[in-house]
Amino acid sequence: MAYRFCSICGSKLKNRKDGNLGCVRCDFVNYRNPRPTATGLVLYKNKLLLTKRASNPFKGWWDFPGGFVDQRETAEKALIRELKEETGLKIKIKKFFGTYNGTYPSKFDPFSTLNLVFVAESSQKKLEANDDVSASEWFAKKDFPKKIAFDSNQKIIKDFLKIWK
Ligand SMILES: [Zn+2]
Repeated sequence: MAYRFCSICGSKLKNRKDGNLGCVRCDFVNYRNPRPTATGLVLYKNKLLLTKRASNPFKGWWDFPGGFVDQRETAEKALIRELKEETGLKIKIKKFFGTYNGTYPSKFDPFSTLNLVFVAESSQKKLEANDDVSASEWFAKKDFPKKIAFDSNQKIIKDFLKIWK
């Protein structure tokens, strides 16, 4: 348990049956719901985009592009924004692929994620690597790396390989 005290009154927090942390004195609940992320399976001429992580967790590992959804932002908007920021690409979302549970490892505050995954297309090949990304690259199915960041991405690629021609 990462959080030990109530943010409102400073009393102790304890584990509740629903997985959240409740204050022993006031009504405050530290909700531990998963944080939504938008993840892109972005294709250009049947090659799939991966971005290399510039910082921890998983610094130097390949990852699917995307990121956390901001307040009052849809997952689609978040994905389009992240792709623009990280790679300079203007993507077209083709379909919703599914939702996946994940773990975001952190020394002080490990938390669960709910990954909203979309298949998208790019009409542009040229890639940039900005922001929290140190490299970006298109991969053919036969060259796709074995090692990618995050437990959720392992599940996503396993499912995508079933339909990736
Ligand atoms: Zn309290």
